[in-house]
Amino acid sequence: MKLEIKEWEEIESFIGKEVFVFSCNSCGGEEIDRKNIKIKEFLEGHGIKILGIINLEPKYCNINSLRKILEENFISSNFVLTFTCGGLPQVLSSLINSKVIPAVNTLKIELERKLGSFARLCSACGECWIHYVGNLCIERLCPKKMRNGPCGGARDGYCEVFRERICPFIILFKNKGEIKDIIPPKKFSKILLQE
Ligand code: SF4
Repeated sequence: MKLEIKEWEEIESFIGKEVFVFSCNSCGGEEIDRKNIKIKEFLEGHGIKILGIINLEPKYCNINSLRKILEENFISSNFVLTFTCGGLPQVLSSLINSKVIPAVNTLKIELERKLGSFARLCSACGECWIHYVGNLCIERLCPKKMRNGPCGGARDGYCEVFRERICPFIILFKNKGEIKDIIPPKKFSKILLQE
């Protein structure tokens, strides 16, 4: 797994002054490090108070383990930052009331790495933008990778490319109502630079 911490300006616009953190021993690797030191330095360096950190092991990377972890740990902040692949924030946001924001971009998932089930939800697109769209990974669900959809081909709520599938933007609008902000364009250079 190759992760990079997002630009501070992007994270800052989604959180308050206190956060709860989820990190992952497997996802983090060298970029995030196993003792969360870089996470603490990064957040505290920007004046953010960390109310708690939960460090997931690969064996806990599934919904039942996550439910148990949440029963045993009180998430004492309105804002949760995840330093994991993009799978965890998608699942976590369906289980807690706090706002969940991915603090990293997943650049790459090595196939040989032993992964938990959340990693399958992450398309490792290099620029995690699920927090703009209700923690729904449209990058993974839309064959055209639209950011501001639906495209003009959607018919009766179904996808132009895969006629049997509901267009994820329809799911998004049903869940969240109108999305007022235009989602900024993707930096494709990140993908092209990946080894
Ligand atoms: S209909 Fe929706 S899911 Fe299908 S290509 Fe267009 S925007 Fe993407």
